[in-house]
Amino acid sequence: MKFDYDVIIIGSGPAGFSCAMQSSKFDKNVLIVEANTDHLGGTWINTGTVPSKSLREAAKLINRFHSQFADRDGRKPYEKFRMEDLLQYKESILESKNQKVKNDIIKNEIETARGWGKIVDDHTVEVTNQLGESTSYTTENILISTGSSPKEPESFDIDHTHVLDYESVLKLTHIPRRLTIVGAGIISFEYATIFAALGTRVTILTEDTDVLPFLDHEIKEELHKALIRRNIQLVTDVSIDHVSVNKLRTCTEVGYKKNSGDSRLQVTETEHILYVGGNEPNLKNIGIENVDLNVTNDGYLDVDDKFQTNVSSIFAAGDVVGYPSLASASFVQGRLASCNMFGSSTEKLKSSIPYGIYSIPEVSAIGLTEEDAQKQGIDVTVGRAYYNNITQADIANIDEGLLKLVFRTDNLQLLGVHIIGEHAPDLIHLGQSVMSNDGDIRYFFQNVLNYPSFSEAYRIAAFNGVNRVYKAGVKYKKILNDSEA
Ligand SMILES: Cc1cc2nc3c(=O)[nH]c(=O)nc-3n(C[C@H](O)[C@H](O)[C@H](O)COP(=O)(O)OP(=O)(O)OC[C@H]3O[C@@H](n4cnc5c(N)ncnc54)[C@H](O)[C@@H]3O)c2cc1C
Repeated sequence: MKFDYDVIIIGSGPAGFSCAMQSSKFDKNVLIVEANTDHLGGTWINTGTVPSKSLREAAKLINRFHSQFADRDGRKPYEKFRMEDLLQYKESILESKNQKVKNDIIKNEIETARGWGKIVDDHTVEVTNQLGESTSYTTENILISTGSSPKEPESFDIDHTHVLDYESVLKLTHIPRRLTIVGAGIISFEYATIFAALGTRVTILTEDTDVLPFLDHEIKEELHKALIRRNIQLVTDVSIDHVSVNKLRTCTEVGYKKNSGDSRLQVTETEHILYVGGNEPNLKNIGIENVDLNVTNDGYLDVDDKFQTNVSSIFAAGDVVGYPSLASASFVQGRLASCNMFGSSTEKLKSSIPYGIYSIPEVSAIGLTEEDAQKQGIDVTVGRAYYNNITQADIANIDEGLLKLVFRTDNLQLLGVHIIGEHAPDLIHLGQSVMSNDGDIRYFFQNVLNYPSFSEAYRIAAFNGVNRVYKAGVKYKKILNDSEA
């Protein structure tokens, strides 16, 4: 049977984009269907990853300038800088990124159709444009990469004026004096520290008793200290009772109660509330019922390690398939889906992937924490490097940060890297490379690393770790020379 396309991709975020690029490299006819009439790129470019990182960069620059050169007059950053300037910075980056994506799509002869994509059957997608006109296209394969959307809060509404979500926060016209963030996921810490850097007084309210439970305990302690230094109040184990606008006091009130212990109503006055309470997959009205696609208990599309659904011609990647719901992973998932569609690779997504929390300071980690290793009965030793011992951090006037290595005591094999501090999401990749080659921590001092650089932290942490093994009774010569230390 002859189809109109080799693959139709519904959604142009990182999963869809990378699937399209890889498929075009295989000389396949590709159509991307995108519901957003203005921009390609999805949450990645327009409302999530890139805009939040752009605002963060601007806030960091302002904060650094402010604290190093300009705080003698005692004014807060929000008294000197305008939200407009930050938004302009962000907009210029989004424009350029949007243009680059468009150029890549044109260069690779990928076709696009603007409108709502809906699966009609195993090999047909219907696209309905803004005028309500529908066109059906046939295809050998389909990729569902429709992403995810913010969940609605249970006890209040998001009006996008007083109560914002991660999309409307990007449209704030001024830097708020006070901000209350409801929810304590990765994005909460990102926005909390962005606004704190601008002088905003931030409170985070969460029903969780333990935040970011996957973090190494020492990294979490350092993050808590960083929040305290920035005057960010973190209130755990609470339920939101109500949100109301107090016109008299020109503020928004958040009423909340502790879930355990003293359950009296407490009220915080704030300018805005930012709700970041999690996401749900975009699966409504895309026709999955027409082809009986399986979903997981959590409501995500069920795929195998080839990103193939229970219908052999239909693949899915990105946030619609759930964990880890990151742009970083979505790029790889989309590419692998294409490789599997066209039988070009047996590659699989690695189980150990890094994550980055773009708070200020940022956090990144890969592999086992000390606690994980202990639970698995592996005898591990740790090596630490505090940023205040790194020359490049001195030069950059940065004194908060920690890089921690977790490695097997018997042979020094690196099992985990945990970092809080400047450049953590970049630094992690050096550890990732060593780990993916089953390397050991001697790599970091047996090879020349640029100096000064933040990577020096690896060398210091490796020496620190080796010294611990030495103190535990293993001869130094043996540690340095044995292939099995
Ligand atoms: C504030 C924030 C910050 C983030 N920061 C990071 C970060 O620093 N690093 C990181 O790795 N990840 C980050 N993420 C997560 C990342 O943005 C997502 O994991 C990623 O964008 C998911 O990619 P995707 O391809 O699945 O979908 P998306 O990027 O969401 O794209 C889906 C696209 O599908 C389109 N679509 C939906 N339904 C249809 C339909 N029926 N027909 C046609 N088109 C449709 C949508 O319009 C959209 O363009 C962040 C997310 C948020 C919200």
